[in-house]
Amino acid sequence: MKQIDECHEILADPYDYIRRFKAESQRKVVGTFCSYAPEEIILAAGGHPFRVFGSGEKIRLAEAHLQSYCCSLVRGALEDALGGRLDFLDGVVFPHTCDSIQRLSDIWRLNVGRCFHTDLVLPVKLDTDSARQYMIDVLRRFRGELAEKLGVTISDDDLRGAIRLCNRIRIALTRIDDLKSERPGILKGSDFYALTRAAMILDRKRAASLLEEVAEELEKKSAGQAATGAEVKGAAVSGPAPKRVILSGGVCNHPDIYTVVEEAGGTVVGDDLCTGSRSFSGLVDETADPITAIAGRYLARVVCPAKHRGLADRADHLVRLVRQKRAQGVVFFLLKFCDPHAFDYPYLKEALDREGILSMVIEVEDRLPADGQLRTRFEAFVEMI
Ligand code: SF4
Ligand code: SF4
Repeated sequence: MKQIDECHEILADPYDYIRRFKAESQRKVVGTFCSYAPEEIILAAGGHPFRVFGSGEKIRLAEAHLQSYCCSLVRGALEDALGGRLDFLDGVVFPHTCDSIQRLSDIWRLNVGRCFHTDLVLPVKLDTDSARQYMIDVLRRFRGELAEKLGVTISDDDLRGAIRLCNRIRIALTRIDDLKSERPGILKGSDFYALTRAAMILDRKRAASLLEEVAEELEKKSAGQAATGAEVKGAAVSGPAPKRVILSGGVCNHPDIYTVVEEAGGTVVGDDLCTGSRSFSGLVDETADPITAIAGRYLARVVCPAKHRGLADRADHLVRLVRQKRAQGVVFFLLKFCDPHAFDYPYLKEALDREGILSMVIEVEDRLPADGQLRTRFEAFVEMI
C-alpha cells in the first residue's frame, strides 16, 4: 500500500523529512520525549510536535555527560543533539517522567541550548482530585509558556481544532489495531509499527488522512475476505495459525522484532508500548473545556510505570488486554537500563503467572540481539504456547 511505503520512507530518515517539512511549512518544530507531552497544545500554537528517538549513531559525545547505564533512548537523543543533527528543533518539552528524562533535561539545558526548553512537571500519582487540578494547572501554564515562546496566542478554538485532529489519528490507529487483532495477516507487524511511529513525526494533517485511508482500505480487504471465507493465517501463508502474542514494555525502536516474531510462528495482536497503543489509546473529549479535556485523557489513559494509579492498575490492564485480544502469550520487550519498566516486570509477570498466561522477556539496547539467537528464543516460546 503506497501510504505504508510513505511511512517506511519517512522512518528511514525522519530528520531529512522534518527538515523538508519545516522549510515548506515554516512551522516551528518542537521536540518531545514522551507521550506525556501534549501534542494538542503544540499544534494549537502552530508548532509541529516531533518525537525524538535518536538516530542510532554510535555514542561518543553523550559519553561525557551520561553514564553508560542510561537507556539507549536518552543517550541516543543527546548524541544527536550534541552532534548537531537536531538543529531543526525550535524547542524541546521534557515531561517529568523517569529519572533519565529528567536528567536529560538538565544536561540538555546546560549543553545543547539553542532552542527554548520546558519541563512539564505533571503529577505522578494520577488517581486523586488534587492530581486532576494540578494536572490542569500545569497544562494551563504550559499553554501560556508555549504561546509566549512561539510569539502567538492560543485560543480555545485553536485547541479544539488540534484536539479533533489528534483524535482522528487516534481513532484511525485504533481501527487499524483492532483489524490487525481480528485478522492478523491483514497487515505485517512492521507495517503497523511504521504507521504508529510515522504518526509521531509526520505533518499531523497528513498523518490523519493517511491513516484514515489505510484503515478504510484494510476494512474493505477484511470485509472481502470475510465474504469469501478466506482464512487469514497471519504472517505465514500456509501452515498452522500463528500464535497470538502481546508486546509489552516501553519504547520499541526495533521494527524487526515484529518480523522475528512472525518468522518464528507468532503474530503480534496487541501491545502495551509507548510506541504502540499507549500513544493512541483514549480520546480527548471534544465538547469540554479543552485543557481540562486534555488532562482528562492523561488521567484516564493506561499508565506507564513512570506514573501511578493504584497498585494493580498496570497488571490488570495487561491481563485484560490478553483476554480481549485472545492472546496466548506476552513478550516483555525491555530497553536495557530502563528502570521504570525493569522494576515493573516482576510484578507484571507474577500477575500473568497467576492467570496462567505464559510470558518471556527480552532485553535490548540500541540493537536487537543476533537474529539467530532471538529467533531460537521466540521459536521455543511459540512452541511452548
Ligand atoms: S515509559 Fe512512560 S515515561 Fe517512558 S517514554 Fe513511555 S510514557 Fe514516557
Ligand atoms: S522510561 Fe525507560 S526507556 Fe523511556 S526514557 Fe525512561 S529509562 Fe529510557
